[in-house]
Amino acid sequence: MLQSLFGYDLNALQSIAEKLNLGQSAAVKMYKYIYNAGVSSINDMVTISAKKRNLLKRYYTTDIVSFSDVQVSVDGTKKYLFDYGDFRLVEAAYIPEDNRATLCISSQVGCKMSCSFCMTARQGFHANLTVAEILNQIAAIPERDKITNIVFMGMGEPFDNADNVFKAIDIITHQQGFGIAPGKVTVSTIGIIPGINRLFAETKCNLAISLHNPFSHERKQIMPVENRYKLNDIMDIITGLSVKEQQRVFFEYILFDGVNDSQDHILELSKLLNNMSCKVNVIRFHPIPGSDLKSPDEDSVIKFMRDLNSKGVVATVRKSRGQDIFAACGLLSTQKKANP
Ligand code: SF4
Repeated sequence: MLQSLFGYDLNALQSIAEKLNLGQSAAVKMYKYIYNAGVSSINDMVTISAKKRNLLKRYYTTDIVSFSDVQVSVDGTKKYLFDYGDFRLVEAAYIPEDNRATLCISSQVGCKMSCSFCMTARQGFHANLTVAEILNQIAAIPERDKITNIVFMGMGEPFDNADNVFKAIDIITHQQGFGIAPGKVTVSTIGIIPGINRLFAETKCNLAISLHNPFSHERKQIMPVENRYKLNDIMDIITGLSVKEQQRVFFEYILFDGVNDSQDHILELSKLLNNMSCKVNVIRFHPIPGSDLKSPDEDSVIKFMRDLNSKGVVATVRKSRGQDIFAACGLLSTQKKANP
């Protein structure tokens, strides 16, 4: 059976080039063709001789998986669904804005972290995505050449699939790969400390921490990860790390009505974040089926942000996008599984 080269890193392509006697420069050429140019066939690798291409074609393809469904929001956001087989449905959201276009990609099928506000958590954990399956979300959408920013904020906890996520980041940010600058790539985590350390040691990508509550005992109620990786330890690690130039740290704060939106929360957040160079993204919660958590009204969200600002914390409200198309992560794939 033919195997796709898509997902292979430069070392793996070099091994293939050596094995097939394709010459010294073939691996770099293949790498550029696959990721930078996005060729659909080995035939399109025209700077590799026809004889060598034919040899390569005996064993390999450059096949990727097309999306199986797309929903388009009135605001231009698109939610793509990929069916990787064995009920492994994965979502990616394309979010165009005035001066940039962000693709939010998934790292796992389902998730084992059990955050109570999250639709993906309801699916349980099914599988880690391979490097090819992570990158496929970028390569297979019609807007691939318009993408300016990548965020790992889709289904799954990226640092629970760290090896594949870091290999994918390498290809995304490599100049001869997808060529997206590290400063345009953000990895969002609920606070898996080994992954945070690796992100700062191995990349120049941005970090987003899903914070959602500054009080450990309350955070545990909605994010069981707090039992293993405590917020205070996460903060110690981040403040102790040498953040590289242009590498940014964000905190995501989903606002739940009556749960994490009091003046006490604002005061505690300001104590936690005031000495850090960071930004808080305040996000209005959108209710999910079967959850008691409620959405605050828009005025309360703005007031929360302003109160944070008045305490010296840089905070903005993240605009909700694609609400009419199940843009909250995990909703579309959960619906598809229920009604295939
Ligand atoms: S919020 Fe993220 S880490 Fe938590 S369950 Fe959902 S996908 Fe997993």
